[in-house]
This record gives sequence, C-alpha cells and structure tokens, in this order.
Amino acid sequence: MPSLSPSLDKLIDALKRLPGLGPRSASRIAQHLLADEKVQALALAHALEQAVKNIKRCELCNTLTDSELCPICADEARDKTKICVVESPADQQALEETMAYRGRYFVLMGLISPVQGVGAERLHLQKLLNRVQDDRDLKEILIATPFTPEGDATAHFIAKAVSARRNDVRVSRYARGIPAGVELEYTDANTIASAIFGRR
Ligand SMILES: [Zn+2]
Repeated sequence: MPSLSPSLDKLIDALKRLPGLGPRSASRIAQHLLADEKVQALALAHALEQAVKNIKRCELCNTLTDSELCPICADEARDKTKICVVESPADQQALEETMAYRGRYFVLMGLISPVQGVGAERLHLQKLLNRVQDDRDLKEILIATPFTPEGDATAHFIAKAVSARRNDVRVSRYARGIPAGVELEYTDANTIASAIFGRR
C-alpha cells in the first residue's frame, strides 16, 4: 500500500528513535499531535527548537543548562569538597529534591556499556578526571550510578581512574536504601536521603 502521508511517516520515524518508544506508540503520538489540536503540536515544535538552541552542557558538571555554569555549580554555598556522579540530569534532579545533598555534581549523560559499544570516551569522563586532578578542594567522590551491570562497570571505571590520579580523594558508592536495579529517578526522596546519609 502506498503511504497515505510521507510527512506523517517522517514524523513517526523521528519519534520511534526516542528511547522507550516503539513503532506503535510513535504512531499513536504522531496521530494524536496532528489530529485535532495542531496548536499543541506547534507549541511542542517551538519548545523543542528553543531548547536545542539554548541548552548547553555546564562547563563544570556537564549537566544541561542555559548558561556556561549551571545554577548548582555557580552557587558558592555548595560544599566544594564533594562531587556526586550521576547518570543523567533526571537523577541529579531527583537528588536535589531530597535536599539531603549539598555538594556538587558530575553528570555522565550515559553509562559505560560494552554491549552497546559505549566506552568511557563517550561519557566526557575526561572532564571529570581533569576536575579531580585540578580541584584541590575536592575530598570525596560519591558515585550514584544504578546497580545494573552498566552502572557497576561505570562506577568501577571511575573509582579506578580517580584513585590513579589522587590518593587523597575518597571514592564511595551510595550503598543502602536503594534496592538493586531500581533507578534513582524513580526512587522517592526519603529513600535517596537515607541512601546518601545511611552509608556512614
Ligand atoms: Zn554545573
């Protein structure tokens, strides 16, 4: 059957490349966007365009932000002796909402995954390691990657790389309170707080 709408096909094609969307949900979303309320679709297109134009990586922590330094890195009141390493801005947000952590961050934007061919070089880890090397205020790295094979591989790599550069920086992994396999983004605030502070 010839395509009813090449434009629709193109949109579905773009949507199904997003994480978590298969062909069926991509097609449902595309149809929903275009069926009645086209205003909604245009608002989405506009928001996407603005975000792509304005958002960059924080120079220090690598998170997504509108300025050179994100508000957390720019905040002089944050504890400069600690860096918490998280997988994504969503995990960073989850930790921020607990209000239990007042240090700084490094956001990996992914995890090492030998299966999917993602090595350390894809994760901007050099940016973190330069910071480890140069930042004399730094005393502790807290690794908050998930307890999955990829999260473990990433934590292991970072711990090794950090201790090869500095022996006066303590590296620990958040340990208690979060069951294996549960990702930070989906964990409630109290659980994360107890994970961060229960580890001592
Ligand atoms: Zn930052």
